[in-house]
Amino acid sequence: MPELPEVEITARRLDEALKDVEIESTLAPGLNALKTFDPPLHALDGQTIEGVRRIGKHLVIDVGGDLHVLIHLMSAGRLQLFDKRAGLRDRTSRLLIRLPEDRELRLREFGTKQAAWVKVLRGPDLATEDAVATLGPEAWPDPPADLAALLKSPRPLHTLLRDQRTIAGIGRSWVDEILWQAELSPFKRGNDLTEDEASALRTAIVETLDGAIRHYEEVVHLPIPDKLPLPLQVHRHQGEPCPRCGTTLEAVFYEDYVMSYCPKDQTGGKVLKDRRLSRLLK
Ligand SMILES: [Zn+2]
Repeated sequence: MPELPEVEITARRLDEALKDVEIESTLAPGLNALKTFDPPLHALDGQTIEGVRRIGKHLVIDVGGDLHVLIHLMSAGRLQLFDKRAGLRDRTSRLLIRLPEDRELRLREFGTKQAAWVKVLRGPDLATEDAVATLGPEAWPDPPADLAALLKSPRPLHTLLRDQRTIAGIGRSWVDEILWQAELSPFKRGNDLTEDEASALRTAIVETLDGAIRHYEEVVHLPIPDKLPLPLQVHRHQGEPCPRCGTTLEAVFYEDYVMSYCPKDQTGGKVLKDRRLSRLLK
């Protein structure tokens, strides 16, 4: 989190608000966030914002002078547009883009880790930048028709769908929703997908992400809230009844995330082993 739907709504809201707005000045208070030095951040000063868009889970601010600002929010970043400048007391600030009328576009990061990053790139360097060049096809709005071929691998679906080099945009939250929607086991191997299952999975990807974005269109407004209202039905809902069949949702806990599923709909009634527990017992 944030994943494709959260980044998409952020890009849409910022694009509407920032097109043709001139950048007054820039500042990177999060020393570790800015990963490039040539061109310098100040190359953006005085340039006009041409648009804001999404590539995979990244945000791209297209700026005049053939410059691009590539941003990865990682797990706890937000790109927010405020009517007032923060001053330097906001410790969550990683990058400030100052705009006319005292407005400020602010990359903030919550929590203790500094993981969110920013790269300022010249035109042709965006497509060849590693984070972009290694991405698989976009999961939305039109994932590859032959999903079975794309996922042909001995790895489990839960891993494959989150691998940005395989398919771009899906992470730990939405993968649970998608696999539940498709009634597929998170541990089913890509190789073992039948044509019908691959087709159900493709439909589930499109419909699930579509639904999330439609929801955000209704409820997410500028400045972009600190906490986005994720419309999740299964992920982190273990212990609650499955919204489809009423069976109690189960979960497998990993060190830093949780995988939630419905045993009746997805694993043939089998409750999967808790990885955290089984590791402790070894
Ligand atoms: Zn169910």
